[in-house]
Amino acid sequence: MAQPIIELRNVTFGYGSVPAVEDINLHLHRGQFAGLVGPSGAGKTTLLRLILGLLRPTRGTVFVEGMDLRGKPCPCVAYVPQVETIDWNFPVTVNQVVLMGRIRRMGRRPWASRQDRLAAQAMLERLGIAEFANRHIRDLSGGQQQRVFLARALLAEPDILVLDEPTAGVDLNAQENILLLLADLNREGVTILMTTHDLNAAAAHLPWVFCVNHFLIACGPPDKVFTPEILNVTYKGHMVVFRHDGQLFVGQQPHSHTYQDVVPNPVPGESIAPPRMDGDGRHPRPKAREAPAEARRV
Ligand code: ADP
Repeated sequence: MAQPIIELRNVTFGYGSVPAVEDINLHLHRGQFAGLVGPSGAGKTTLLRLILGLLRPTRGTVFVEGMDLRGKPCPCVAYVPQVETIDWNFPVTVNQVVLMGRIRRMGRRPWASRQDRLAAQAMLERLGIAEFANRHIRDLSGGQQQRVFLARALLAEPDILVLDEPTAGVDLNAQENILLLLADLNREGVTILMTTHDLNAAAAHLPWVFCVNHFLIACGPPDKVFTPEILNVTYKGHMVVFRHDGQLFVGQQPHSHTYQDVVPNPVPGESIAPPRMDGDGRHPRPKAREAPAEARRV
């Protein structure tokens, strides 16, 4: 097989004396679209930081495009951070954030060229956020913010896109759209590695997954890797896996008790008839109100 575009060879890293990830051997090949899954604290973000060259392994080596990173970022990798970790009080517009993706190309020139601006505009249009170009990033929904940071990363024209929880904190529809957009980018040749907590979305959208919990537990297509045995080791819990219409679903096995064991007398709610809907499930349009009779007489 060809040389991996990302390779971790016997990588161990600890923030202090205790390793956060240990003896990791991981290969990602050019053109792959892969997910890193595992519980909170498993070391997923640490692995991304090692691949980004933001951390240097305590032991072992990280290669990107065949080069030993030695803790130095490779310009061929672009990063999309978790939107929850961003300081939204920083006064920047969507357009300014996206143009930051060109900083490496600008070199010593401290302003964006006409070409940079046109590229930013085209990217905003592609990601469906052009109408927000002059808005403060704080004033967008989670899904729109995610697209802004994706646009910034893509403006650098990277070979590899690394995303930390790109589907966290957005609704199901936005999640689906982001994952389809990533699949499109992958088809165009971008190698993608993303972390996710959503095993069902990973099963439906990702062709390859790495299960991590301090060590690399397993890797392969979700169909092969999402088994109760592997997931129980990864999540140290009791997971159930089932299929419906050919799709794989993963869930936590319910505890042996129900809420009724814990709360035998729950506070009751109040049943109110739901608003009437049309046959197609939409709320009927409210009719224009007639003016009161006295008013009409005048
Ligand atoms: P994940 O992304 O899977 O939730 P992380 O890579 O963030 O996991 O964390 C792995 C381990 O490293 C955790 O035990 C976490 O507490 C620890 N850790 C993460 N970042 C730091 C840090 N900056 N300083 C000290 N410990 C850290």
